[in-house]
Amino acid sequence: MKGEATLQNALHWGEQNLTQSALDSPRLDAEILLAHALGMTITQLHAHPQSQLSSAALAFYLQLIERRARHEPVAYIVGQKEFYGLDFFVDNRVLIPRPETELLVELSVEMAQARSLRLIADVGTGCGAIAVSLAVHLPQALVYATDASPAALEVAVCNCRRHGVEDRVRLLHGHLLEPLPEPVDLIVANLPYVSQAEWAQLPPEISRYEPREALNGGRDGLDHIRRLLAQAGRYLKPGGVVLLEIGATQGPAVVALARHHFPAARVEIAQDYAGLDRIVMVKGAGEQRSRGADMEVVWF
Ligand code: GLN
Repeated sequence: MKGEATLQNALHWGEQNLTQSALDSPRLDAEILLAHALGMTITQLHAHPQSQLSSAALAFYLQLIERRARHEPVAYIVGQKEFYGLDFFVDNRVLIPRPETELLVELSVEMAQARSLRLIADVGTGCGAIAVSLAVHLPQALVYATDASPAALEVAVCNCRRHGVEDRVRLLHGHLLEPLPEPVDLIVANLPYVSQAEWAQLPPEISRYEPREALNGGRDGLDHIRRLLAQAGRYLKPGGVVLLEIGATQGPAVVALARHHFPAARVEIAQDYAGLDRIVMVKGAGEQRSRGADMEVVWF
């Protein structure tokens, strides 16, 4: 870095470096990383543009910029991502919570309040963003949060403690709904749904850094959603509800799957803030269980 090691120069240098690496928001990223290196807020940075960085702080900042220049997500570098108004600890053991998923939480909170749903399952919890947000906003709720990845559950433990909901979020290791100890009123899931074709198109920021098992949904992206819908009848209480996040082109296929397993339920699609199909809602799913597909009844 040329010139004096002032905050202003450091920001300028960081921005230029990230611009050369073809990143989308080089200025903002440089601000976040400098603030992180100094343990300050961005507002504090701008209040003292001529302050000098110590050589240790400068060296740390240069390292952070180098990581970002290789397209590592900012959230992993600073170990933090805001979701639904709460700060979550994240690292490369978990998917970084996306803003679209806030809609899944919003609809789940509304549904749980309107129908007094108390027992909830968050399937494939990852860092725990959905489960923790639900527990924080629904003080009566008990949330079972499952994940097939023990490493992801270690991250989720931190977030439950951070937000003081470890007594109402039960973290369970296992596949989909299998670890649940009892049927629930509401199943919420942001399962991996990226198809093979989409995987090839993902920016390196995602495909090189985020856990593949948190994104990869098999050939058409629906492997996990298909399995979950086949299991759901056995794990839902009467009148239960299922809310699933989906990829923008998967609406018709997931609605068809939901209707197949729950012929008596109301199945709807909700669009995200960008106007894309994002959530499939299956209401009254527990009322008519389709057991034929995955269970045999034998009469004597
Ligand atoms: N929305 C995510 C992405 O496009 C995918 C999340 C998921 O597979 N559940 O990166």
